[in-house]
Amino acid sequence: TSFGFTKVAEGSKQALVDDVFHKVADRYDLMNDMMSGGMHRVWKDAMVSFLAPPRADKSGWKLLDVAGGTGDIATRVVNRSNETVSAVVCDINESMLGVGRDRAAKAGLSKLITFSQGNAEDLPFPDKSFDAYTIAFGIRNVPDIPKALREARRVLKRGGRFLCLEFSEVDVPLLDKVYDTFSFNAIPVMGKWVTGDGDPYQYLVESIRKFPSQERFAEMVREAGFERVTYRNYSGGIAALHSGWKF
Ligand code: SAM
Repeated sequence: TSFGFTKVAEGSKQALVDDVFHKVADRYDLMNDMMSGGMHRVWKDAMVSFLAPPRADKSGWKLLDVAGGTGDIATRVVNRSNETVSAVVCDINESMLGVGRDRAAKAGLSKLITFSQGNAEDLPFPDKSFDAYTIAFGIRNVPDIPKALREARRVLKRGGRFLCLEFSEVDVPLLDKVYDTFSFNAIPVMGKWVTGDGDPYQYLVESIRKFPSQERFAEMVREAGFERVTYRNYSGGIAALHSGWKF
């Protein structure tokens, strides 16, 4: 079966994305580990230590983790703060949020991490409500990225921090070839093994290929009004972390 992602009009992209994550929600965490060889954990840890949330907060410091899925980033941030900050996980997909809610409950973090359904392009939160905004492996799924970036800036307080972790352009010779071959051939096959359906993973691979380069994405973050925009590569650019500030 062909997923036909490339033939889908922009308008129906979101429906397709929703279907993908609805199908994989139960196995999402397992697939992440398999496909990245556990590397997604290392990148997420690096993202959270770069964010450096307060270690003992008394001021009501608050994170918004958009496209937060099962809550990986929010959980790390809350743990790192010694359970003194709070986080809102916002995702468009109730199935992913459901898995996250159960996980947070098991970890005893239900009071500090709340789960809220919403679209990154039109966030259901007032202006200036968060100290930090994170989005990990989420923004490439959003049909209108500039709109999502403007929304990120809107909900941040002045002095707030924007961090985006995303698959990016590999800049190491040879690794780029190996990675290309691996992702295009192995990922949909692994997806089929674990979830019984390779199509959603075909979509994932294609969405990674279409995402703008590090430099171009940094430009988009600047265009949304963020300042001091920088990025760093992880694993030779397989992933990249973009950072910006709202002043
Ligand atoms: N941040 C998590 C992580 O790193 O493990 C989940 C990433 S997962 C690859 C992408 C998530 O983006 C899915 O949970 C999906 O439902 C969500 N998503 C897709 N389109 C969205 C949108 N327009 N607004 C909010 N979330 C969206």
